[in-house]
Amino acid sequence: MDGLVVDLGEVVGPDQVLSDPEVVASYTVDWTGRFRGASTVVVRPGSVAEVAAVVVACRRHGAAVVPQGGNTGMVGGGVPLAGEVVLSLRRLDAVGDVDRLAGQVTVGGGATLGTVRQAAADAGWAYGVDFAARDSCTIGGNVGTNAGGLRVLRYGDTRAQVLGIEAVLGTGQVVSHLGGLLKDNTGYALPALLCGSEGTLGVVTAARLRLVPPSPHRVVALLAFGGTAEAVSAAAELRRGLPSLSATELMLQSGIALVCRVTGAPLPLADPHPAYLLVEAAGPADPTGELADAVDHLVGVAEVAVAEDSVRAAALWRYREAHTEAVNALGPPHKMDVTLPAAALADFVDRVPDEVAAVAPRAETWLFGHVADGNVHVNVTGLDPDDDRVDDAVLSLAAGYGGSISAEHGIGTAKRRWLHLNRTAAEIDAFRGIKAALDPDGILNPNVLLPAP
Ligand SMILES: Cc1cc2nc3c(=O)[nH]c(=O)nc-3n(C[C@H](O)[C@H](O)[C@H](O)COP(=O)(O)OP(=O)(O)OC[C@H]3O[C@@H](n4cnc5c(N)ncnc54)[C@H](O)[C@@H]3O)c2cc1C
Repeated sequence: MDGLVVDLGEVVGPDQVLSDPEVVASYTVDWTGRFRGASTVVVRPGSVAEVAAVVVACRRHGAAVVPQGGNTGMVGGGVPLAGEVVLSLRRLDAVGDVDRLAGQVTVGGGATLGTVRQAAADAGWAYGVDFAARDSCTIGGNVGTNAGGLRVLRYGDTRAQVLGIEAVLGTGQVVSHLGGLLKDNTGYALPALLCGSEGTLGVVTAARLRLVPPSPHRVVALLAFGGTAEAVSAAAELRRGLPSLSATELMLQSGIALVCRVTGAPLPLADPHPAYLLVEAAGPADPTGELADAVDHLVGVAEVAVAEDSVRAAALWRYREAHTEAVNALGPPHKMDVTLPAAALADFVDRVPDEVAAVAPRAETWLFGHVADGNVHVNVTGLDPDDDRVDDAVLSLAAGYGGSISAEHGIGTAKRRWLHLNRTAAEIDAFRGIKAALDPDGILNPNVLLPAP
């Protein structure tokens, strides 16, 4: 390791090689606190050439590398759980000029989602991906996890935004294709391949992103229902009948009560209700009337609050966005981020608490999610971080319904032993073949995504 540290210092300068144990420690624990590792060194390159030289040096020394962006990932994929070198991309935070003619921008892998969103807005455009970790998570991490978030129903996931990519492969070679041509059938689509690859195939140093037209008029409403099934049906109806729909988020009374307890917010409606939908409509013209009409036609709405202004809209959004931090306040959660077929979603949500209780009677279950995408975040608190019996029960239940064990957070280290629930042996073999081609010595994040051989 000493020889590697010297070599890394020659590449990036000694100031950008961190080995003080207290400083390194802040890079070794994930956001949830569930995944705690150790490393002797964090390296912080400032250019693609430095990233390439770092990878080459690590390869020469046989040292495994964990690429890390904002460290907001939820599945233990961005922290060194087996003593890997931490390759922090946060210095690659440049945001290029917005190409106003094409509606595109090229940004560094370490630029935060929030910075990119602001740059797009300043140029009269918008960026289609958004979620609560916006001010910490990076575009490289978003590509690594193929992040989804609040507006997938309108604009798609990160893969749908990435038109070009620059990355350093496990060989140290740089692949760069940032032209942003909308039609470009010249072989394999590396941007699509790298989206969701979780740092196992290449280190993303830049991305060319598609921008979308801004939606200056926005209205937010909170709808209450007597049960999950009614809320899920209403979400489907809104997708069909409300063209300006830009978000529908499912929450349950238990989660709302927790958010109120942790944040001190008042209950959002006069009475508590079993299920809620946070609905946002947005567009070039005021969608308030369109939203009101659509809500009038819904069945089973027990109570409604409509935000009259942006302050109240932000307050309603806070009930949803504060779920993640409120759950974390109870101690490191087990997070199972699953997608269900639409027809099974309500049944799954209603069954999960009992399935968890059968395995861990003293645990608590918190459910919320991006309901229009079929995506439910199952959070369970009160468990030992290493006790994965609940993970097994919940992921098996989701797969049994024909769902996915990872909607948007990725597989990481947390779910690699369950990948077979969604992927055949032939698919996993193909994954291994791709990994071997792009990272022949297996130094890039070797302990995530693919099951241990
Ligand atoms: C409050 C909160 C809300 C969230 N909401 C959502 C949500 O709605 N939707 C959603 O999808 N996620 C959500 N997340 C999860 C998280 O923010 C995303 O997974 C995000 O994309 C991670 O970005 P990051 O920069 O923090 O990556 P990290 O956590 O640093 O890394 C995540 C993975 O990407 C890899 N990686 C990081 N940078 C690079 C790079 N430059 N090149 C290659 N690989 C890289 C890492 O090795 C790791 O495998 C939320 C997190 C928090 C804390």
